[in-house]
Amino acid sequence: MINRTDRADRRVGGNGVGRSGAVLAATTGLFAFGAWLTLASGQSGGSAEAAVTGQAPPSASTFPRTPATVRWSPDPVTEGRLFTVIIEGEDPEVSEATGSFGGEPLHFASNAKGALTAMAAAPLDSVGSHALRVNIRHADGSVDSRELSIDISPGGYPMESLTVAPRFSEPQSPELEARIERESERVLEIARRSHETPRMWSAPFIAPREGRITSGFGSGRVFNGTVESRHTGTDFAGAVGAPVTASARGVVALVDDFYLGGNVIYIDHGAGLVTGYFHLSEQLVAPGDRVEAGDRIGLVGATGRVTGPHLHWIVRYGAHSLDGESLIAYSPDR
Ligand SMILES: [Zn+2]
Repeated sequence: MINRTDRADRRVGGNGVGRSGAVLAATTGLFAFGAWLTLASGQSGGSAEAAVTGQAPPSASTFPRTPATVRWSPDPVTEGRLFTVIIEGEDPEVSEATGSFGGEPLHFASNAKGALTAMAAAPLDSVGSHALRVNIRHADGSVDSRELSIDISPGGYPMESLTVAPRFSEPQSPELEARIERESERVLEIARRSHETPRMWSAPFIAPREGRITSGFGSGRVFNGTVESRHTGTDFAGAVGAPVTASARGVVALVDDFYLGGNVIYIDHGAGLVTGYFHLSEQLVAPGDRVEAGDRIGLVGATGRVTGPHLHWIVRYGAHSLDGESLIAYSPDR
């Protein structure tokens, strides 16, 4: 959480909620306008009425005078993709916020426009209505707790047939299954811990390779005629030895040789965000290294479960794997 007090102080007297709402609705289109939600808290009925009827603003001792607005972008939210939760409120000043969505905590910080925003994740296979909870703390000490409903839309992810080496499609030994489980548990633990790491990332995020995407996120994979798994990463083309770069600032959390992922690197970017880089021929960083966006961290390879050299890139928010393209498109300044 970041205290917004000094930023808010510079804006006293200007840019009320009504005005910023109109500006944002105009720039984001009618669809966004439909999702614009101004929700009065339990104790703010009088102030909402004052805003509607255009009465003189109540005295400073009456609060909150204008309820904060909570919205999200893009709207609608799509399964498997990141989105931005935005809290705007001027009177009384919104100083900080906490919240949760999809079973993960949200980490709010001030954006370039002075609003509080947080990255949030719509899990794959979560189409339907889900609760967004936010606790908004005002500079005057009042707290406004809200629960809103977000409808998650289908992602329309394609199905693809894939031929893989028999050793990966045949039943695996208990030892091997235990190894795969252990490796996935280590990654989950890194993703959980990332919620405790201060936010290091800043947008825009960059793709880990300039090469084309050969297999997008979310597709169903059909092995030998049976749907066995979803593709929870994004594949980039690349020859063995081609560079792989970090998508954002962060700390290297894991460098290892995994059964499925081969030579892998995971980077903790803080505030719940983790990226992973699979099948590398070489790993050029060590756990604990700090990296910047664009730093060369490894080389494309064909290690682990692959049909040929490529980069399998993973984006996680907490427990959820998400479409990397929604990270590239992500902005806190919506
Ligand atoms: Zn892949």
